Amino acid sequence: MNSSPRSAVVAGAGIVGRVQALLLAKAGFKVTLVDAADSTGVSMVSDDSLSVRSVALSYRSQQLLGSAGLWDNSIGCPITSVLVNEKGRFGSVTFQAAEFSVAALGYVVKNHLLEQHLKNKIYAQPAIEVVQPGSVVVKHSDEHRVSLTINTAQQSTQHEAHLLVAADGTRSSLREQLGIEVKTTDYDQLAVVANVICQRDHGNSAFERFTESGPLALLPLGKQQMAMVYTVDASREEEVKALSDQQLLDEIQHRFGGRLGRFQAVGRRALLPLTLVRCENQFSGCGVLIGNSARTLHPVAGQGLNLALRDAFGLVGMLSHEPNVASALSGFVSARRSDQQFVLRQTDALARVFRKHPWPISASLGVARQSSILLLDTIAPLREKFGRRNAGMGISLPSAGH
Ligand SMILES: Cc1cc2nc3c(=O)[nH]c(=O)nc-3n(C[C@H](O)[C@H](O)[C@H](O)COP(=O)(O)OP(=O)(O)OC[C@H]3O[C@@H](n4cnc5c(N)ncnc54)[C@H](O)[C@@H]3O)c2cc1C
Repeated sequence: MNSSPRSAVVAGAGIVGRVQALLLAKAGFKVTLVDAADSTGVSMVSDDSLSVRSVALSYRSQQLLGSAGLWDNSIGCPITSVLVNEKGRFGSVTFQAAEFSVAALGYVVKNHLLEQHLKNKIYAQPAIEVVQPGSVVVKHSDEHRVSLTINTAQQSTQHEAHLLVAADGTRSSLREQLGIEVKTTDYDQLAVVANVICQRDHGNSAFERFTESGPLALLPLGKQQMAMVYTVDASREEEVKALSDQQLLDEIQHRFGGRLGRFQAVGRRALLPLTLVRCENQFSGCGVLIGNSARTLHPVAGQGLNLALRDAFGLVGMLSHEPNVASALSGFVSARRSDQQFVLRQTDALARVFRKHPWPISASLGVARQSSILLLDTIAPLREKFGRRNAGMGISLPSAGH
């Protein structure tokens, strides 16, 4: 057997590309990690800013990262309970971490802290070379190798790699260069994303409230700080942009109610179109898509990173067992299909139910509830059979020996 390490180029050093590079290096690959952006952005984010962006990681994601030595409890805010209810109806459903004998149902992580944490790990890993800013141009990809050029401001270098991982985000140029097509669905909705300060302590609870125009989720982020996401019809874009902070707080209060007291402050808001982008094939030759380049889910579902992490671990698990990269990619795609399709179907249902039907349609609501950001994968299950899968607990991944 050839003892020289297999080589991989990972294009895109977002969260997914960083994790993928670290996992490949751990599995014995020599990795070149290339990102188009300048590397200075992360350190400029202030940790207490009310405008930081965050993601909710599921219990399973946290466990996976932990198994690879990539998790640190200090970077996440634990979610110890989840409360789901409906506006205008009595009653709610609560899930407690203790019910599932886990310390937390999930963690809310500030993106810049996770990115910095992974960056430190990368710089401590001698098998990873970082090229940033740089770009990758694919010359040829077949079932044996990929030939490519890595361009920086100073030079262009030719590379032959066993594997190319395109983790270059939703508008992936690598995907195009690999000749992989995507399907895009526009839901005519916008996600309104912002952090808020609440009057009452959230007690590490996450909340999801179903309202006439869509779900509103609040995730614990800091002491009285919560990350909020809700949907509005795309036709309201200019109106919501023009709202004063107080008007936005009033809108959130109206949707959420008084359980957390008054909402007192809101950070910079982002309005993101709800689209679903999914690739037709996930690999071509020795090139594979991972993360947002493979599928971009709408943020209200909160599933993109969790699914991508399972893919990243699944890919490395398959590569660890199968020396032939093209065979490993084919095996990876088959092994991951069912989980990917399940998540796609659920998040698609969540978006469609609020696009077509104002409120309330009980059958559709059932779908929406099952698809909710807080219950699908991020948080532990509603029902044992359905739920263990939703918490990401019941999905087997090929082991990479972590
Ligand atoms: C508001 C919001 C909330 C979300 N909440 C959650 C959540 O709670 N839970 C969850 O699981 N998911 C969530 N997601 C989804 C999650 O954020 C994404 O799935 C995840 O960040 C995708 O990461 P990525 O690394 O694939 O892509 P990106 O973060 O887009 O990174 C792509 C990287 O590629 C680089 N790049 C681009 N082009 C090139 C090129 N040509 N060559 C080299 N590099 C290139 C970019 O500079 C960037 O660094 C949310 C998304 C949004 C928008």
